[in-house]
Amino acid sequence: MRATAMDIYRLLPKTNCAKCGEASCMAFATKLSEKEADVSLCTQMTDKERDKLQEVLAPAVREVLIGTGENAITIGGDEVLYRYELTYYNPTSLVIEVSDDLSDEEFEDKVKKVDEFEFERTGEKLKLNAIAIRNKSGSTEKFTQAVNKLKDSRLPLILCSFDTDSMEAALKIVGDKRPLIYAATENNLGTMASLALEYDCPLTLFVPHDLEKMKELSWALRSKGVKNIVLDPGTFVKGGTGDTLDEFRMIRRLAVEKKDPDFRFPIMGVPAIYWLFGKENDVVKGIRESITAAKLMNSYADILIIHGTEMWELIPVLTLRQSLYTDPRKPQAVDAGLYEFGKLDENSPIIVTTNFALTYYTVEGDLKSGKANCYLLVVDTGGRAVDVSIAGNQFTGKAVAELIKEVGIEDKVTHRKLIIPGLGAPVSGEIEDDTGWEVMVGPRDSSEVPDFLGKLAEEASK
Ligand code: SF4
Repeated sequence: MRATAMDIYRLLPKTNCAKCGEASCMAFATKLSEKEADVSLCTQMTDKERDKLQEVLAPAVREVLIGTGENAITIGGDEVLYRYELTYYNPTSLVIEVSDDLSDEEFEDKVKKVDEFEFERTGEKLKLNAIAIRNKSGSTEKFTQAVNKLKDSRLPLILCSFDTDSMEAALKIVGDKRPLIYAATENNLGTMASLALEYDCPLTLFVPHDLEKMKELSWALRSKGVKNIVLDPGTFVKGGTGDTLDEFRMIRRLAVEKKDPDFRFPIMGVPAIYWLFGKENDVVKGIRESITAAKLMNSYADILIIHGTEMWELIPVLTLRQSLYTDPRKPQAVDAGLYEFGKLDENSPIIVTTNFALTYYTVEGDLKSGKANCYLLVVDTGGRAVDVSIAGNQFTGKAVAELIKEVGIEDKVTHRKLIIPGLGAPVSGEIEDDTGWEVMVGPRDSSEVPDFLGKLAEEASK
């Protein structure tokens, strides 16, 4: 179980000296339990006491760093099985596999796609995180040639070869960039462990479909001094993914509930498996890969190796990741206020919406793509959607009236008309009473707003 604020408080000096910036040791303990403060801020502990506290605070799943510099990724770090208990930390890293048997042109093209891939959703730029170089050719020479091409890569690397000579040759090129080594198996464990220690790189342990063996080998790696381990129990898709998902969940349960030291590591999934063995056409493989990536992410995968780079395949995975890794304790909100779209004058219409981020960015996208000319009045509803904030009494006539005064929209337009969302119809009368403005109920779906505005303009010009 995760350490509670009381567990942490017991290990603090309890002098309430406030040198950590908090009024009391209990307040500091609460911040530590929420991961909102760092132990080092309490200067009143001995090294021994601090080490003990760090041990209690260590997440159930160890954090593993891959790469160096600003694009390095951290995987793992989770404390809980269910997101509502706390939050999930360190979003699942999405890694694209590039094999060493591609032509120079194909190789460059794929790497460029990964590097430049970007998709914006609710104001956040969603990107891919790393490149996995696969020793598909089986040749050390080809593998090192491919690794050489990526030695200055902006993105972190995963080196994929079971051959220890190939791995050593690759590490001689990029070992100082902290790539993730893939993978130690029962057959090469000793040499891979030595390479991981020599180059100070994280190491994946691949043990397909055998958690008992995985426990044994994880213990063997730990006893050799390897601390940064990633667990790959195998991604099996033939006959369904049920067994694979069960194993992922079992590993995470062993880490979080049993604190089993052999399983307290991030988990790797390999949806790219469809491209290695599947016989379907590329579209079917892409769809299956995308679905499997989503299922594995929902079952605690911390890093996923994917083959496809098509936007349609990756968008669902990126969107799911963004949704899973938002903090359920914090509403997703944008700043309330007045936003402007297109060419404006004193007759421009005023649309009203709430500051729930998903609502705002959907409306913003629809207004921009529909080339609408209007003001958008965004009401502070604490990051709640229209219907939710009506039920919770945040989207009210009073809130709209106060915002109108605050942003000075009365000086920008000569009319006194507001267009509220279709879902806001139940409070239209209240808004009219409190603001004194005429209220029109607009469409329920913001994609219809530009047409709605177009019709209003047409009618006004008659
Ligand atoms: S600095 Fe340490 S001892 Fe002082 S109030 Fe903060 S937690 Fe307590």
